[in-house]
Amino acid sequence: MSDKKFRLKFNDSNLHDSVSYILVSKFNIKPNVLQARIDGSGGRMILAMSGAENDITNAIMYLRSVDIEIEPLDNYVKRDDNKCIDCGSCISLCPTFAFEMDKETWDVKLDTSKCVACGFCISACPTHAIMLKLNL
Ligand code: SF4
Ligand code: SF4
Repeated sequence: MSDKKFRLKFNDSNLHDSVSYILVSKFNIKPNVLQARIDGSGGRMILAMSGAENDITNAIMYLRSVDIEIEPLDNYVKRDDNKCIDCGSCISLCPTFAFEMDKETWDVKLDTSKCVACGFCISACPTHAIMLKLNL
């Protein structure tokens, strides 16, 4: 079993496709919509998929075949550790608790696997240590 997060981009031709239903019924994948912005002409979604590696691969291929753009969110957020001053400003702003202060060393750790690409930490960082790789 594997848990992965993706950014999906819809256009006006596939906007109304029920992605969650397709993932469950065709690929035996448990979907979890973490974020969605949809309007009349298209939309973007942050989606977590839980399932067998092979099923997730097949689901990605299917979504691409119906013209839904899909990109993995691994390492979506990046931090330049040389710029981080461990101020902690990012910790309380992150909705998924991706940042954590080590109680012994006072270093602020970042677990990129928890990131849902909201971007809140970018503006919170006084040293501009955090970067997003994609433009949602
Ligand atoms: S982009 Fe959002 S979810 Fe990701 S680490 Fe920053 S605050 Fe947390
Ligand atoms: S806000 Fe920036 S400098 Fe402060 S702990 Fe977070 S990443 Fe480091």
